[in-house]
Amino acid sequence: MVVEQQRQTPATREVVCTHCERKIEIPATAMSVSCRHCHRRVIIEDLEIKTYHAVLRIATAGKVEVQKKGTLVADVRVNELTVEGSVKGNVIALDRVAVGKKGAIEGNVSCRTLAVEPGAKLNGHYRVDPAFVPPPATPREHADDEIA
Ligand SMILES: [Zn+2]
Repeated sequence: MVVEQQRQTPATREVVCTHCERKIEIPATAMSVSCRHCHRRVIIEDLEIKTYHAVLRIATAGKVEVQKKGTLVADVRVNELTVEGSVKGNVIALDRVAVGKKGAIEGNVSCRTLAVEPGAKLNGHYRVDPAFVPPPATPREHADDEIA
């Protein structure tokens, strides 16, 4: 394995791996990257949902924006979720969920911060905690690597 030297790197940002939940630093413009912890492919892409979109699961370490006419039916795992339309499914946001005045979420939501405009419809169980860290899928995998 090659150890990458971090010298004079261009702009980077930190995202959380959608598989193992660990922090990874990536070039600001990257759309996907291999996680240095679990070595799985992590999608960083930002998504805009403009119409009806139904899938089993959306996982991106980037942002998902559900626009006014958008309906997203999926379990969602993102860094940041903005809802101006509607979402049906469970949401895990590693950072922030924002729901606009016409926005609606039907499902359970876990996130670090939540911003809700008056008029938004929320139906589900909410866990909002700035220290929220989703449990890794397989805790045993990380037992030898607990240094944050
Ligand atoms: Zn990972």
